[in-house]
Amino acid sequence: MLHRTEGIVLKSTPFGEADLIATFLTLDFGLLKTFAKSPRKTKSRFGSSLEPLTHSKISFWGKEDANLPRLTQSDIIQPFQSIRNTMNCFLKVSEIIELTLNFLPEREVNKKAFSLLLNTLKRIEKDCNRTLSIIQYKIRFLDLMGYAPRLDGCARCGKFGYSFYMSQGSIICESCAKGMDAPIKLSPGAVKLYESLSKWDLSKIDRIMPSQTLLSGLSSMMDNHIKYTLTKPLKSMAFQGSEM
Ligand SMILES: [Zn+2]
Repeated sequence: MLHRTEGIVLKSTPFGEADLIATFLTLDFGLLKTFAKSPRKTKSRFGSSLEPLTHSKISFWGKEDANLPRLTQSDIIQPFQSIRNTMNCFLKVSEIIELTLNFLPEREVNKKAFSLLLNTLKRIEKDCNRTLSIIQYKIRFLDLMGYAPRLDGCARCGKFGYSFYMSQGSIICESCAKGMDAPIKLSPGAVKLYESLSKWDLSKIDRIMPSQTLLSGLSSMMDNHIKYTLTKPLKSMAFQGSEM
């Protein structure tokens, strides 16, 4: 059976002499691994449409449950080439791609995750230095997966606070936290920024300009939370060190 949808290439892995396994985040089939026959042989349009991040209209052939359907066509909608061509920018994006691959189950439709990724890539292509887009993706994506940290109050009693406990994935107030490990102390500004990033419209977020200190505080809390939740750091985080 032939299926059509649109997808974003998250990963392309060489297979044999000239073939590829291309992993897409698709609109209608969720995370999907496909087999692409000989795209590496020539510098074809088909081959360039399988570069990571490319957004395309795709067709694939295979039964509903086939574990590696064959990709028969892929027509580029947006290549996001400028992100791939800028090392620093591509590394930042690699982090959210890796996060997506780690959390999304295969073949589970998630249209919100698809449009979140597509919109984030569009915003990063416009301005790669805006770290806010990366942090925001992490927050919103984890929220869709049910793993977002809770900062709007103590997980036990709801009381407001600024001490984040990694093992709880939440703020815990002083009286509920007795006997727990040391928390990450957040500033009121970081908590407020987090709430805005998780709830506000993208257009409204484009107008805010948080300070570097706020950004790096929130960013390191998110990365620690991800590391804890995955029980390992993302590989792409290691390349960037303190730059994020
Ligand atoms: Zn409490």
